[in-house]
Amino acid sequence: MVQDFGNETLPYGVFSTSDNPRPRIGVGLGTSIVDLSAASDRLSTGLRELANAEALTAFLHRDRSTWEELHSAVGEIAADPGDLVPQLGATMHMPFQVADYVDFYSSRQHAENVGRMFRPDDPPLLPNWLHMPIGYHGRSGTVVVSGTPITRPHGQRRGEYGPSFGPSQRLDIELELGFVLGNSTHLGEPVPVDNAADHIFGVVLVNDWSARDIQAWEYRPLGPFLGKSFATSVSAWVTPYSRLTKAKPPVQDPTPLPYLQGGEGPLDLDLEVWLRPAAADEPSQIGAVNAAQSLYWTPSQQVAHLTVNGATIRPGDLIASGTISGSERSEFGSLLEMSWNGTEPIEVGEVTRTFLENGDEVTLRGSVGGVVLGEVSGTVVA
Ligand code: CA
Repeated sequence: MVQDFGNETLPYGVFSTSDNPRPRIGVGLGTSIVDLSAASDRLSTGLRELANAEALTAFLHRDRSTWEELHSAVGEIAADPGDLVPQLGATMHMPFQVADYVDFYSSRQHAENVGRMFRPDDPPLLPNWLHMPIGYHGRSGTVVVSGTPITRPHGQRRGEYGPSFGPSQRLDIELELGFVLGNSTHLGEPVPVDNAADHIFGVVLVNDWSARDIQAWEYRPLGPFLGKSFATSVSAWVTPYSRLTKAKPPVQDPTPLPYLQGGEGPLDLDLEVWLRPAAADEPSQIGAVNAAQSLYWTPSQQVAHLTVNGATIRPGDLIASGTISGSERSEFGSLLEMSWNGTEPIEVGEVTRTFLENGDEVTLRGSVGGVVLGEVSGTVVA
């Protein structure tokens, strides 16, 4: 999918073309790609070898000063780019090798919605939620690049007399932001919250595909295992974190523990959910939400929390925000919430949906002002 990136964020991706099938690093500029390996003679010796790699992973092994040197050099190349490769016709690849993958649960409205649906007799938030960014370890090996078809997963579901088995009947999406980490840490050394940004290379959009029926039978309220691990899609373009505007940190009451106080504010981005139903020609927008207004915990706090026990950061670690939901129905980031657990179908163009049907294509978009994030798209197949 061709996107107009303008010239402000200069996102990184990995692409190939029919006349040169080698995957290589590119920079999104307008509706074109700057082939960084072809321009590598304009980079310093230290950056040149990294720019000729087949993924961004080599950069993620380096530190923030190298990243800033790269962004700055790329800015100069983009100002006078020479030959450009049209996005149209280029094939995009997974931009980095995912090391560890953590999915957080940092939107208060989303957590409360799920609590109301699955624990109706209890307060919607568990008492720990306001004291730490809750998360779980996901499956890094099934993180796929935008455009990869999503095979409807099979598994156990709740049946009338014990489990039934078959394809998920409640396949869902989750609208999330992802953060690509690098600049390794040593085992046993937590990252202070004020240094967290030294480890955040870039930002991707994430669709955390979820099989609600498999999740609901695995664990209450919702299991984080096979109902999640079949696929997670990320955008093909990684936008430099340092080039994106941060909003004011959210008001947090109660005040979190000292190790979570500080760091950078959330990203000010407007996010959209689009769904093209099977057989429809055009997608319909079914949701819109502002990330900064709807996320309680920031990426800085998430990095500080996930390392506070001494766990390491590895180059290529991916952390996702958790489903981003605002206060209105039109701002919810999953079909589970939009259709209130399948009880209230939503209108999508000419048809209605509770959960996804085969052939449905979901696209998540993000932008603010003229700044555009790489979108993430996927079509459900049987
Ligand atoms: Ca999620």
